[in-house]
Amino acid sequence: MIWDELQVALDALEGDGLRRQRRTLTTPCGPAASVDGRPLLSFCSNDYLGLANDPALIDAACAGARQWGVGSGASHLVSGHLAPHAALERQIAEFTGFPRALLFSTGYMANLGIVPTLVGRGDAVFADRLNHASLIDAVQLARADSHRYPHGDLSALERLLSTSTAKRKLILSDAVFSMDGDLAPLPGLSALAERFDAWLVIDDAHGFGVLGRHGRGSLEHFDLPRTKRLVYMGTLGKAAGAAGAFVAGDDTVIDWLEQRARAYIFTTAGSPMIACALAASLRLIAEGDARRQRLWQRIAQLRDGLASTRWRLLPSATAIQPVIVGDNHEAVRIADALYERGLWVPAIRPPTVPAGTARLRVSLSAAHDETQVAQLVYALRELA
Ligand SMILES: *Cc1c(COP(=O)(O)O)cnc(C)c1O
Repeated sequence: MIWDELQVALDALEGDGLRRQRRTLTTPCGPAASVDGRPLLSFCSNDYLGLANDPALIDAACAGARQWGVGSGASHLVSGHLAPHAALERQIAEFTGFPRALLFSTGYMANLGIVPTLVGRGDAVFADRLNHASLIDAVQLARADSHRYPHGDLSALERLLSTSTAKRKLILSDAVFSMDGDLAPLPGLSALAERFDAWLVIDDAHGFGVLGRHGRGSLEHFDLPRTKRLVYMGTLGKAAGAAGAFVAGDDTVIDWLEQRARAYIFTTAGSPMIACALAASLRLIAEGDARRQRLWQRIAQLRDGLASTRWRLLPSATAIQPVIVGDNHEAVRIADALYERGLWVPAIRPPTVPAGTARLRVSLSAAHDETQVAQLVYALRELA
């Protein structure tokens, strides 16, 4: 029967140690988690500023639900675009320094919306090899020619651009790479986009709220001018602590996305109560220097603590701090050993990362305190 092959494929995943297991938490998002009644210290979440469970966001969501209800009832272009959405778009545009912003339901959908709406058959996309899965899928959906350049390699990108005869070109990159925590060379990408008249689409899922002055993100970190060819995408489920995403840019490109992005048009607008929570979140992000300071302290603490050990950290200055192990099975063994000690750190293996670079992906947050990071450092030193 048609489903038997699924069972065979599932069994193969099991046999290769690649079958994923969800763990059900009985606690809200935060460093102190509980799974099956067992307390665990979590280093897994993208809640970099500790806002997911912040009282101000909870109050704003509750007040928002009382005033606006829970559901938006329709897509943005029909009747689902409510005042909290409009206000949030203006707030995001102002905060990120662009003329306009457009809300999407998720970051995955924002990427699927942007790329195929800007390029299509006969056009060309130039993408960093380590881009997030949603960007890879977006290129497929666009049916444009896809050129992937080695991670962060501006000369390789330049060569590809200079030999391209495509009518329209689009450069596509994560700003902070999700499995390595390093930054894309945004000024170089921007200069190449200028020189070859290309769109530059930047996914700042892990930089927005964390990097730059007042947490404005990676563009602010590099002090990059907001040009007409720059399309800036950020997510609202990570540092912003809620859900959703936005695309910010010049009036014309945002108008075009609003009119044509299928992932924007053919989906129900996000919950207005979430938009209310996000308005509060953006204020906390803007005033969040103390939170970011705590995050930088935790990052330095982890890096210092592991400096003279056998653990190799990647040169990451962000909340994503991968510990490279190399061997797949060893990475899983170490993650298991940490879990036994009540420390929850995910092991990331190929194909998510290149072969031979299996790693523990430590995510730090302003919500972690010094003792909690010390526990992780202590356990890793012991396991070394
Ligand atoms: C998480 C992530 C996304 C997807 O965002 P969601 O809002 O979770 O759908 C897109 N791009 C990158 C780089 C991400 O890390």
